[in-house]
Amino acid sequence: MCDVCEVWTAESLFPCRVCSRVFHDGCLRRMGYIQGDGAAEVTEMAHTETGWSCHYCDNLNLLLTEEEMYSLTETFQQCKVIPDCSLTWEDFLRYRHQAAKRGDSDRTLSQEQEEQAARQFAALDPDHRGHIEWPDFLSHESLLLLQQLRPQNSLLRLLTVKERERARATFLAWGHGSTISEAECRHARHSWFCKHLPEAPSSSVSISHVGPIADSSPASSSSKSQDKALLPTEPESRSVDWPTFLRENVIYILAARPNSAAIHLKPPG
Ligand SMILES: [Zn+2]
Ligand SMILES: [Zn+2]
Repeated sequence: MCDVCEVWTAESLFPCRVCSRVFHDGCLRRMGYIQGDGAAEVTEMAHTETGWSCHYCDNLNLLLTEEEMYSLTETFQQCKVIPDCSLTWEDFLRYRHQAAKRGDSDRTLSQEQEEQAARQFAALDPDHRGHIEWPDFLSHESLLLLQQLRPQNSLLRLLTVKERERARATFLAWGHGSTISEAECRHARHSWFCKHLPEAPSSSVSISHVGPIADSSPASSSSKSQDKALLPTEPESRSVDWPTFLRENVIYILAARPNSAAIHLKPPG
């Protein structure tokens, strides 16, 4: 049954990849959720492996409570972020610095945090346009707030049946029985949960193929080569069971909801 007109018809309905809603394309157009060329894109996307997210699931900002939204708006005001405007790297970095200073005026971003910010900016600007769009920025900030304020159990409750099923299938595809290795867990986080592109898991997959997807900002290009050296060498032996896998990836599963090509929360490392 179409979520907009609540009529069931046999003509093809667009399923949302996240929730259980389905839509007529005519209804989406009528409500202004898709416009002009958008329709062709939606048709195409909804029928690929990646799928299409409806307007509820596409907007991560809707996951925030009224109080959390108020807090975010206040931060934007104090940091002089203008809503609905795109942000350049300079805007983004200035905001990050100011946000870090809130509550503790002496605190500044460490070099490592600044490099992390550069990687995140690049991930939010997949087409290398030198700026990030407001909805992508808002999604990213909403995720950070969720990550900061909500206990993991509460985040787990946000997952839909489809998301759990897909995560479970990924876990089983990568794993050996009831556990998967730390490296495989990280790989899933970097590739699949970033924007679940169809990818056949293979036992010969090496973690070295999982490079940053789109590092293009000026600040990140110089630091890129150092990333690996800075990473502590983690023992690869830790095995991850299903509950841990889901808990550790929940924020990245949520981050993969929007249709935009941007990566809204880049995993560290
Ligand atoms: Zn309809
Ligand atoms: Zn949906």
